[in-house]
Amino acid sequence: MVSWQYFNVVFVVNITSSSGEAVTTPSNIDALLHKARAQYRVNCQETRQLAQAAHTASELIRYTEGLAHAEFLIGKAQLILNTPEIALPTLRCALKRVKPFNLPKLEAEILVSLATAQQMLGQFHAAFLLWLDALQSALRANARECYVEAYLGLGDLHVQCADPSKALHFLSLAVEWADLSADQDLCCKARLHLAAVLVTLEQYTLAERILMYAQTLLILPLRRDWQAEICNYLGMIHAAQHENELALASFNEALKINAEAGFLWGQTLNLLGLGRLKVSLQDTQGAEADLQQALHYATQFNGLSLLQQIHHQLYQIYEARGDYVHAMMHHIGFHDHFMKLQQQLTASKLSAVDARRLSLIEMKLKLLASELEVTQLKQQRHQESGRLQALESAAYRDALTGLYNRRALDERLPELIHAANENQESLWAIMIDFDHFKRVNDHFSHHIGDVVLRNGCAALAKLTRERDMLARYGGEEFVLIVTHVDEAIVGKIAERMRREIEQLPWADVHAGLEISISLGGAQWQQGQTSEQLMSRADQALYLAKDAGRNCVRFMGADDA
Ligand code: GH3
Ligand code: MG
Ligand code: MG
Repeated sequence: MVSWQYFNVVFVVNITSSSGEAVTTPSNIDALLHKARAQYRVNCQETRQLAQAAHTASELIRYTEGLAHAEFLIGKAQLILNTPEIALPTLRCALKRVKPFNLPKLEAEILVSLATAQQMLGQFHAAFLLWLDALQSALRANARECYVEAYLGLGDLHVQCADPSKALHFLSLAVEWADLSADQDLCCKARLHLAAVLVTLEQYTLAERILMYAQTLLILPLRRDWQAEICNYLGMIHAAQHENELALASFNEALKINAEAGFLWGQTLNLLGLGRLKVSLQDTQGAEADLQQALHYATQFNGLSLLQQIHHQLYQIYEARGDYVHAMMHHIGFHDHFMKLQQQLTASKLSAVDARRLSLIEMKLKLLASELEVTQLKQQRHQESGRLQALESAAYRDALTGLYNRRALDERLPELIHAANENQESLWAIMIDFDHFKRVNDHFSHHIGDVVLRNGCAALAKLTRERDMLARYGGEEFVLIVTHVDEAIVGKIAERMRREIEQLPWADVHAGLEISISLGGAQWQQGQTSEQLMSRADQALYLAKDAGRNCVRFMGADDA
């Protein structure tokens, strides 16, 4: 199903100008790609669709960077939605396209996905070399998330190559870098992988502690699959420590989550765990049922290592039962997969040259990590002193324009009214609204719209006196509160702002860009609340819009 949101964005890209020709621009495409990227963790399908739309648009205007970026996102999504075989050519294409540009971060990201694809296909040596390339590009771009991904990949690779101590080395590095990146999701993921290796090394106490911590970092419900993985490892830990009830409960919990989400791999793993546990509890019938189901799933996605383990368990069950025909069958199955895995392992032996290259990169990264830690410590100390100030400005300032926000206005306006009343001074509220702003976004991109608001507000702020208050009311609407002036002066202030915005060099921001504002003002009347004052200013604004925009209108004192 294609969502409405999708159509909305495609519309932005393919919008046509008044003269009829398509105005697909790199900045439109970039905005689309940005959206596609943001969707990745939430809805991968949406990422693929959006990236495909960006790809088509990039082809139209021969925007090579856009093509590379779109292909990367499509490939990355294909890794999850399709198969690594389908993703590989897309990702290779993206890599080739990005090479001539100096975009090391994107290059590192593509390499990470390529390495993942090769690893999923059991091409361990190719994957290893790609992880090294990814680390190197990430180093050039100082892209910490990519270090984490690459170390995770190298760790998993050594898990698959049955070298847990090397795996431990890489995965602890992944945890360190994840913590430096402050990305909660990555911190959780790295710990999950580290715990998995600790389980195979029978370091149960440590593994359990790390899993418990990972659980607090889970972003739910997005990470239900990881939650299931944590339950599965806890099941393995309990089983190893003969806490059978707890183990059963953990495996079943994991199986439930995976079944609900339709994760085949996860269900297979859980069923294998349950089968093993039931064998040890002498429930061979229950074990057989679970393992047969696991075998059925594992065959569907050809998980070599899982198949090998499942066949081994089934072989033992049938042999103990004296069912030699079935025992033989599963022994052959076990042997076949064992040999296939061995072949992969010998093919992936790393050469001395590769190992040297890795240790060089690692050394550079270690230096970088210690430098980072020092600067982070320094920053923390600095932040501590500025924290209150920062908190205040975050609460009362608008992030885009730096002006006061609505909350600041709502809290401050009644106070200003009270003070004006006490001092018998006048007080005016002027609503400022950018004209036809929707068209600006539609014709030039949301990004240009943001630039207009930022530049426009900076100019308005310059014209605002120290004692007056300029705030963002919402969207493209702003409010100026002016005190202690008469009608002639407030009219001049408003008119000066209108003229200033009209005259700013907007064509420097984008060719053909023209901007104006409409202003509506009202004076506070005795006995009025701040809401009543704002509503009258709003009515005046409507008058200005009705009069054709780009002008100033005031409500008379007697108008309602
Ligand atoms: P009018 O002249 O009648 O005010 O027309 P308008 O298009 O400006 O008014 P409308 O209220 O229909 O649209 C306002 C638009 O402003 C819609 C919204 O997408 C856009 N907008 C609001 N906040 C932001 C922002 O922070 N950035 C950008 N780029 N656009 C914004
Ligand atoms: Mg407007
Ligand atoms: Mg508006």
